[in-house]
Amino acid sequence: MRKFIVALLFLAAPLMAQAELRVFACEPEWAALAEALGGDLVEVSSATHALQDPHYIQARPSLISRVRRADLLVCTGAELEIGWLPKLLSKANNPDVQPGKPGFLEASAHVPRLDVPERVDRAQGDMHPQGNPHVQTNPHNIALVAEALGARLERLDPGNAAAYRENTANFLADWQAAIERWETKAAPLKDLRVITHHKSWVYLVDWLGLEEVATLEPVPGIPPTANHLGMLVTEVGDQGQGADLIVRAPYQSDKASKWLSERTAIPAVMLPLSVGGSDEANDLFGLFDDILSRLLENRGR
Ligand SMILES: [Zn+2]
Repeated sequence: MRKFIVALLFLAAPLMAQAELRVFACEPEWAALAEALGGDLVEVSSATHALQDPHYIQARPSLISRVRRADLLVCTGAELEIGWLPKLLSKANNPDVQPGKPGFLEASAHVPRLDVPERVDRAQGDMHPQGNPHVQTNPHNIALVAEALGARLERLDPGNAAAYRENTANFLADWQAAIERWETKAAPLKDLRVITHHKSWVYLVDWLGLEEVATLEPVPGIPPTANHLGMLVTEVGDQGQGADLIVRAPYQSDKASKWLSERTAIPAVMLPLSVGGSDEANDLFGLFDDILSRLLENRGR
């Protein structure tokens, strides 16, 4: 019986749809986007999940072998993956997916980048020397990357160009409708004063017209210190300028948020930073639905 089943599977295999392109995404938001635009034509995997800090992961052998077999890498860039992607690329030795090749798409190169420093002082430990890499928190950026990614899929797999074009057009139509819905829903959030753990939300702040009054990290990438938090109590507490909400990503410890919240009575909330960062953020649409719901429910005014 088992032999019979194996034989059947063998016969059936060529009839099943074969993925045409292997896509290796560095972050789950780009994996979700590649799946939306590629459908059955792509086999997608992500190097990181939403409960990991994409600044820091290990260049594991399993990731190296996935890069070796990939047809397309989709990564944020702007040095977000500087600690591990160069290592993966050199060990995988796949000439088709090196930066500059059609098989490498740098998402952040397709959006207007914020916080580009005039002068980089690495001695201070700032880990965003090419501007802020966390571009996925503005849905207009997702649309720009979708256009670039759709075009790239067509170029790499011209035989299926019509399908990629149709998928991309459908996604963008749904996405634009969702953006209008989100912008209406978010109107009460305008001028909301937020304190963020890491500078992960500058694109969201810019999109919704929020105000980032402080960060728990003294410098991007340097964990909150007792000194810095103590200073924040004075700056943003009752005696200072005040703030409406403290925001962190799922992979950041809630210790600093809680500490400051307890001393200032400013509410603290976790927001999903990518697809999979909360139960509700199960795709790109759910990600923004949930970010807005959590902001609206938890803001301290
Ligand atoms: Zn960062």
